[in-house]
Amino acid sequence: MEIRQNLLSFLSTIPKSVKLVAVSKTKPVEAINEAYEAGQLIFGENKVQDLVDKVTRLPDDIEWHFIGHMQTNKVKFIAPFVKLIHAVDSLKLLKEINKHALKNDRIIDCLIQFHIADETTKFGFSIQEITDMLKDPDFINLKNIRVTGVMGMATYTDDNEQISIEFRKLTSYFKILKSNYFSELNYFKEISMGMSGDYKIAIEEGSTMIRIGTSIFGSRNY
Ligand SMILES: *Cc1c(COP(=O)(O)O)cnc(C)c1O
Repeated sequence: MEIRQNLLSFLSTIPKSVKLVAVSKTKPVEAINEAYEAGQLIFGENKVQDLVDKVTRLPDDIEWHFIGHMQTNKVKFIAPFVKLIHAVDSLKLLKEINKHALKNDRIIDCLIQFHIADETTKFGFSIQEITDMLKDPDFINLKNIRVTGVMGMATYTDDNEQISIEFRKLTSYFKILKSNYFSELNYFKEISMGMSGDYKIAIEEGSTMIRIGTSIFGSRNY
């Protein structure tokens, strides 16, 4: 009951144009089912093994997003079904995703992760690295992946101004890529930014897709 309530009241606070990814990591299938029954269809997980276990036990029409750091040797396990991989941070990883997408006769959507935070621990490309990659024939020849946008995580801080600046940076990177490389491609449209603690700022700064765990499912016990 609580999850249903949380979900519905959360949804009432965000614009309809912003997609909600319900981050169900560490939560049992019962919790996911409760959100699903309340109408939520997009869920995000950050561990390959957990995702693979949950998929078989939940309805087929769920759209699964992988939001964690993706290791190349694990792509094969989620390639048959994953809808969107949020945190792509190397060409090597894109090639691996392409390879397994091809084997499964699919096209897998990916977001380019940018390093926007002030912390060295977070993964992601710089704008220079990405513009180099987009011109690289090794990238251009990948036919079974589709880059549908960008993703980033702000610094974990209570300084809202800093968070705004970081999200604004991600939106500006999106716009640069859109006008220079993807202007003809309508599918390049997502800016995945914003979590329970900072989604309001993310939406103000142009987020199209927020990734929310705690506000829907409660806090996590690791
Ligand atoms: C856990 C996680 C989230 C959700 O975080 P909450 O603070 O629980 O909303 C969003 N994005 C990523 C990449 C995560 O790992």
